[in-house]
Amino acid sequence: MSLVVMKFGGTSVEDPAAICRTAAIVAGRVAAGKNPVVVVSAMAKVTDQLLRAAGAASLGDRTGALAISSRLRSRHRDTACDLIKDAKSSAALITWIDQKFDQLDEVLRGLAAILELTPRISDLIVSYGERISSRIIAAAFCERGIHAVHVDAREIVITDSQFQKAIPQDSIIEKLANEKLRPLMAEGKVPVLGGFIGSNEAGITTTLGRGGSDFTGALIGGALAADAIEIWTDVDGIMTSDPRVCPDALRVKVISFEEAAELAYFGAKVLHPATILPAVKKNIPVLVLNSRNPGNDGTRITSLAPHCSSPFKSIAVKKKLSIIDVVASRMLMTHGYLKAIFDIFDKHQCPVDMVSTSEVSVSLTVDSNDKLPAIAADLSKLADVKYEGKKALICMVGEDIRGQNGMAAQVFAAIRHINVRMISQGASEINMSFMIEEDDADEAVRSLHAAFFQNPDPTIFDVEARKAAAVRS
Ligand code: ADP
Ligand code: ASP
Ligand code: MG
Repeated sequence: MSLVVMKFGGTSVEDPAAICRTAAIVAGRVAAGKNPVVVVSAMAKVTDQLLRAAGAASLGDRTGALAISSRLRSRHRDTACDLIKDAKSSAALITWIDQKFDQLDEVLRGLAAILELTPRISDLIVSYGERISSRIIAAAFCERGIHAVHVDAREIVITDSQFQKAIPQDSIIEKLANEKLRPLMAEGKVPVLGGFIGSNEAGITTTLGRGGSDFTGALIGGALAADAIEIWTDVDGIMTSDPRVCPDALRVKVISFEEAAELAYFGAKVLHPATILPAVKKNIPVLVLNSRNPGNDGTRITSLAPHCSSPFKSIAVKKKLSIIDVVASRMLMTHGYLKAIFDIFDKHQCPVDMVSTSEVSVSLTVDSNDKLPAIAADLSKLADVKYEGKKALICMVGEDIRGQNGMAAQVFAAIRHINVRMISQGASEINMSFMIEEDDADEAVRSLHAAFFQNPDPTIFDVEARKAAAVRS
C-alpha cells in the first residue's frame, strides 16, 4: 500500500471549515487505498501570536501576554466545540485544551517575573500551537470516520539543542518513526503529528525554525521512505512568483529539487528551505497542493526537471536584508583576509546570503538582525565598515539558464528603471540574483514576470489557468 505523508499548513487548518476540508482530503486518500501520515501546523497566525505573548511577558507586560493567551484559548476551544459534536469527546478535549493553556499561562507568568526570554523558553511557548492544533485535528478526523491517532511529534523528531533552529538527528528519527508509526499504520490507523516541534535527547522541547512544519513532513517522509510527500497550502502549487506580489503568477507544473531548494532558500515562502533534502536523499517525489482547490494537480518536485523552453521557472524575493560593505584598500588580497571576515560572521552565528568582492571591497548580504552592530564593530577592527538595511534580494531560478548567453542583459533590461546594488550568478548556475532597495522589490518582480513569462512553455506552466481567467474577465 502506498505511504503518503500529508502536511497541512496554518491556512489549511485555520478554522473549523478549513479543518473539515483537510479531513475530506485525508479521507479521500484513505478511500483511494493510501496509507497517510498527517503532519499539521498550528492554526494560522497562532505562532506569531504566541511569539507576541512571549515578547510581552519578557518585557514585564503580564496582563498583555495573558490576554493574548486567553484569546488563543477561546479560539481553540471554539474550534474544538464546533468540530466535535460527541458530548463526551468534546468535554474531554476542552478539558485537555484548558490544561495546556493553564500550563502556558504559568510559563508566561514566570517569564513576566524573570524578564528573560531565552531561545529555549521561546520554543516551549510556541510549541503549544502545534501541540494543540494536532490534538484537535486528530479528534476532528476521528469524528469524520478517519481512524486517526494523535502522536506527539516530540517523541519522534529528536534534534540537537540549537533552540529555534534545531538540527534533526536523522538516524534516530528514522528508527523512532518506524517503531512508533508503522505499527499504527499496520492497524489501519492514520497518525496525526504536529509539525515544527521536536525535542533534544534530554526531552526538552525544540523547534525547527519558522515554517518548519514542511521540514517535519519531509523528515517523516524520508524516515518512512514514503512514496510521496504532499505539502498542502493555500495556493495552487509553486508559482512563477509569489501570487500576492504578482497576481499574474502561473502554476509551475513540475520543477526540479534543485530549483525548488534554491527558490525556498531565496524567499519563496511556499516551502521551508530544508524541506527538500530528506526527500532528495531518498528520491521521494514532493507535491505542493492547494487545500482550497484539491482537484488541482499542484506542483511536482522531482529529481530531474524536463526540458523547458522558458529560461526561468520562478522569481523569488527575500526582503528584510542588510548589505555590509567592508572596504580595506591595503589588505583585501592578503592571505587569510576573507577568512578573517567570515570568521566574524561565524562567531556571531550569522549566515551570509550573497558575497561579492572587488579590488578593494567585500560586500555581503545577511538577514537584518540585531547582531549587526556587534558584527560591524568586530569587522571595523579589520577594515572600514558600512551597513544598510531595507534591502531585498531578487532571485530568478531555472535549470535552463545554464549556458544561455545574454540572459543577464535581458534581465537588467527588464528592470532598467530600478537601481541594482549587487549581482551574483550562483555557483549552481541555476540562479541569477541581485540586490535592490526593498521598496523597489514588488515592482521589480512584476516587471521581470511580465518580461519572462509572456509566452510560457505549456508543458511546464499552467497556461490553461491564465487563458481561463482571461475568458472570465
Ligand atoms: P502554509 O501556512 O501552508 O505553510 P505559507 O504561508 O508558509 O503557507 O506559504 C504559502 C504562501 O507562500 C502563499 O500564500 C504565497 O503567498 C507564498 N509564496 C511566496 N512565493 C511563492 C511562490 N513562488 N509560489 C507559491 N507561493 C508563494
Ligand atoms: N507554525 C510554525 C510557523 O508559523 C511552523 C509552520 O507553520 O510551518 O512558523
Ligand atoms: Mg509554511
